[in-house]
Amino acid sequence: MSFCYTRSYRGPLRAVILDWAGTTLDFGCMAPAVVFMGVFRQQGVPITMEQARIPMGAHKRTHIQQITQLDEVRQAWIRAHGSPPTESDVDRMFREFVPMQISCLADYADLVPGCLDALAAFRRQGLLIGSTTGYTGEMMEILLKEAAARGYAPDASVCSTQVPQGRPAPWMCLQNAMDLGVYPMEALVKVGDTIPDILEGLNAGMWTVGLAVSGNEMGIPLEEWQALPSDMAEARRAHAIERLAMAGAHYVVDSIADVPPLVGRINERLARGERP
Ligand SMILES: [Mg+2]
Repeated sequence: MSFCYTRSYRGPLRAVILDWAGTTLDFGCMAPAVVFMGVFRQQGVPITMEQARIPMGAHKRTHIQQITQLDEVRQAWIRAHGSPPTESDVDRMFREFVPMQISCLADYADLVPGCLDALAAFRRQGLLIGSTTGYTGEMMEILLKEAAARGYAPDASVCSTQVPQGRPAPWMCLQNAMDLGVYPMEALVKVGDTIPDILEGLNAGMWTVGLAVSGNEMGIPLEEWQALPSDMAEARRAHAIERLAMAGAHYVVDSIADVPPLVGRINERLARGERP
């Protein structure tokens, strides 16, 4: 045979898969960071906000385990406990983490500014709305209720405890595609505020958009962001954009409010036969 033929999807985007904390609600992705700090403080091994944020986006037990593997935390743990942290230490901390996180989720459930307008724009653009998260099922029950009370109800929602592995594995995105009944995966775009969010979307064969300002990369509440001197804000924003872009994000913007105009741009690329 001298010729072969390839099939390519030329249709528009059909669904957007949104992360939760730092993407649709909880500007700065504050809720998990604050609780991780509390969990380690209880162990006599205080950690900084920066250390608490490093593994953000992962399943919360994985997140705790990854914090214990940070060199400085591991050394501090050995000083406090006489031996390195074990799997059963991680299990115990995760058990303590769950009720602490649940008790404060509702305090961090306000939507990111512009979220509802962006959701309405996605609907007008013909997109279904799915979601993924590193939170567990019982945490999501609370957040789904809080979000609905504020006007946000996604068509599908999959959390890390419903799949064999959380991010960066693609399973939560693939489960969303099944639940929404949409394919191929290049007709879906993932939006999130962490590097594991971007990797999850890329591993699922999707377009990806990173959010540099509203989430974990900036890591400060809305009022603090708005009060930041402009040169400092610009430097931190540039740093966040670079990190998300280097993870492979197709686009990086400030927040979900900036995502709707990208839908048309991705649709043009799909129409030309481009794939993520
Ligand atoms: Mg997030």
